[in-house]
Amino acid sequence: MILRKVFVYQEYPENLMKLYQLAYNFWWAWDYQALNLFHRIDTQLFREVDHNPVRLLYSLPKERIEALSSDRGFLFELGRVWERFQEYLKYVDALKRENNRLYGIGEQDSIAYFMMECGLHESLPIYAGGLGILCGDYLKCSSDMGLPVIGVGLLYKYGYFDQRIGVDGRQVEEYVEFENHLVPLKEARKSDSSPAYVDMTILDQALKVKVWQIDIGQTRLILLDTDIEDNPPHLRDITHELYVADKRKRLQQELVLGIGGMRALDEMDVAPALFHLNEAHSAFAVVARLEKLMKGENLSFSEARAVIRASTIFTTHTPVRAGNENFESELVRRYLLGTIEALGISYGDFENLGFVGDDREAFWLPALSIRFSRFVNGVSRQHRGVTRKIWASLFPERPEVEIPIQYVTNGVHQSWISETFDYLFSRYMGPDYVRMGAHEDAWNRVFDIPDEEIWEEHRKNKRILVPFVREKIASDLAARGFPESKGLKLASLLNPDYLTIVFARRFAHYKRPTLILKDRDRLKKILTNPERPIQLIFSGKAHPADERGKDMVKQILDFAREYGVEDRVTFLEDYDINVARHLVWGADVWLNTPAPDMEGSGTSGMKAAMNGVLNLSVLEGWWEECYDGANGWAITAGELYNLPELREEAESEQIYTLLEEEIAERFYARNGAGIPQAWVHMMKESIYSVGYEFSMNRVLTDYQRKLYIPAMMHLRALKEDDFRALRDALVEEKEVLQYWDHIEITHFSSDADRRDHLTEGETIKAECSVYLGEASPELFRVELFYLFNESKDYKTMPMELITKDSGTGHYVCSFSVEGYGVQGMNVRVRPAKELVEDLHPGLVKWKD
Ligand SMILES: *Cc1c(COP(=O)(O)O)cnc(C)c1O
Repeated sequence: MILRKVFVYQEYPENLMKLYQLAYNFWWAWDYQALNLFHRIDTQLFREVDHNPVRLLYSLPKERIEALSSDRGFLFELGRVWERFQEYLKYVDALKRENNRLYGIGEQDSIAYFMMECGLHESLPIYAGGLGILCGDYLKCSSDMGLPVIGVGLLYKYGYFDQRIGVDGRQVEEYVEFENHLVPLKEARKSDSSPAYVDMTILDQALKVKVWQIDIGQTRLILLDTDIEDNPPHLRDITHELYVADKRKRLQQELVLGIGGMRALDEMDVAPALFHLNEAHSAFAVVARLEKLMKGENLSFSEARAVIRASTIFTTHTPVRAGNENFESELVRRYLLGTIEALGISYGDFENLGFVGDDREAFWLPALSIRFSRFVNGVSRQHRGVTRKIWASLFPERPEVEIPIQYVTNGVHQSWISETFDYLFSRYMGPDYVRMGAHEDAWNRVFDIPDEEIWEEHRKNKRILVPFVREKIASDLAARGFPESKGLKLASLLNPDYLTIVFARRFAHYKRPTLILKDRDRLKKILTNPERPIQLIFSGKAHPADERGKDMVKQILDFAREYGVEDRVTFLEDYDINVARHLVWGADVWLNTPAPDMEGSGTSGMKAAMNGVLNLSVLEGWWEECYDGANGWAITAGELYNLPELREEAESEQIYTLLEEEIAERFYARNGAGIPQAWVHMMKESIYSVGYEFSMNRVLTDYQRKLYIPAMMHLRALKEDDFRALRDALVEEKEVLQYWDHIEITHFSSDADRRDHLTEGETIKAECSVYLGEASPELFRVELFYLFNESKDYKTMPMELITKDSGTGHYVCSFSVEGYGVQGMNVRVRPAKELVEDLHPGLVKWKD
């Protein structure tokens, strides 16, 4: 027998309406007063429902609700929180007007932000790790800053898996269906207020997609869901599982995200100006945009492509090419052939945009994204370099430094700051310190906070962490069936006074969680030093298919047991936002040891640093930019080695030495008042550098400045006068192409060749000849490319036409020498108009 599920909503008293309204806006996730209001209703229950206010309210018995509605103290507090919320919304409205005035970014210029996973809160488990958390933080901050963003993602039926550790120390995955109707989720509505649905075709079969909406302050996130009764079972399950392993399903998911997402925006009458593809999973949005521009606005393929490029921002996060999204090209063809041919485009031409090099077997979504985005970025300075290398073959005519991939280093949202520190910062920096993002003068004040106060707040956080760990372990153990005997020892598990080191992140091999276990005897000695005891907390999920990752979990548990250090080496199951939050609040040291070039940015260390936790990390990702010698520790010893084995040897050696001689020393050196002053000074340096440079406010400011505003300007110029500039460029492109094959640089020389001694500041004269034939020189730009500073910097100098005879133009320029060392130069010809290059990327000829 099958029973159809229906959900019946509770009736609630009129004077609690605001409570329900508050519950339905994720703003509560970053307002401690709102959270405290819900805690107050029933702390135990609130924890049990993963701090989800909607579920809390629907789990309350009728009598409790009635009691609340006549509890004058409660109603008073509700009124206060409601006012805070209204003030927040008003503040954001004012910011929106200000943004519009300053940058001309108004509601009509919204930015659609596409994502595969989204980590807003532990009660909405549609995220797997850092990428999802970043999206959640981004959406919260877009509201804080009044940026007109609308998020687009998928609503999964099963949350990302829960991690359980079996009796043998092996990870087991459990997929739990979560109750959609019990999270702060509403039906998305069209402008006529009917529920929004999207129609799609998947391999000739009709698919109906339901659109949900989540409110995050002023920002909306829409989530697509295929699990509705109108769909056959084999299509209903498209949105069942995040990062589903079955490639066919995964492709279907990404078609729903990209194409369905675009259509959902249309259905809701949202016409974004810009499209931000956050990671390439949503690359198929460009297919829906081609449809819209070609069918709806009658643009040709090249026109549509130019418009799409001008308005698309692509952010890549994955530092290994193989880890990037790709499919067998046959599979993609099966799903997209009809759609593409219906546009009058040859499928072969389209497909080429997903290929890399000569390989026609794999269709790469990042390649498609890059080719349709004028604005591409990696997520840290180091990651920009890695990304340029990975995708260099998409830019065969560009030297690596010039590959148009920028970077915006990731950051974290203020909501990662603990309540104690939030209050402390508000008192010393002013309550709007969090909005100050990259304002140095606000964060400078952290140095004014008395040492005792910072230390005391930090100790409070540690005293929250220890019972949290004990309770969690007790309940995890009970769930595995052995509560009592083990339970007794729990009281002695961890000590809030001990130096506490945390390693919490996904257990992927490259993160090297077991690096610190390299010399177990030595580690045991360090941990059990009677004068300077240290404890270690690990947490993190291994991907279900990653046996090596799972094995590392087991190694840690085995070490704790075999070396008799179970009281000070613990593993916390089921790393999620809630576990992360407690750890980044209550650790002393945050350990991070990814292998070289493998971390896009990393963000958990930033969350920790904002709470006064000190980073001990290899110089990778964000830490390579932040570390300044005074704000934490860098593990650098491996840098001289290429062999992983030698490298790890040196790195672990350095970690042990730092722990023994520097970190424990500093932590336990107390003044008369029991305060480790040198440590606290380092905490302040760390808070300062991260608050100032690695907040999500700074990230959004960067996106706005480096990507959104330039994109907006470019797009406007393109669209002006009904695409006049674009149409002109198309005419010019034809002309350029007509002559292109014959264009040739026949001669290049500079007086640098004739001098035997060049020094900085001297002037170099260069000249070249270009065979143009019949072509007008105006169609082309001839320039000198100059590479200096160990190939890290470059300049381009326009060359001036001085004479033209029998089809050959003679060009000259002069420039001054920068720096010293081995340098490079050459000349090249490009189309004169940037727009022509946009229409036809890769039109460059160098002197052989
Ligand atoms: C912050 C966070 C991450 C990402 O941390 P990294 O430092 O990038 O590994 C992953 N998972 C959770 C739950 C987080 O809170």
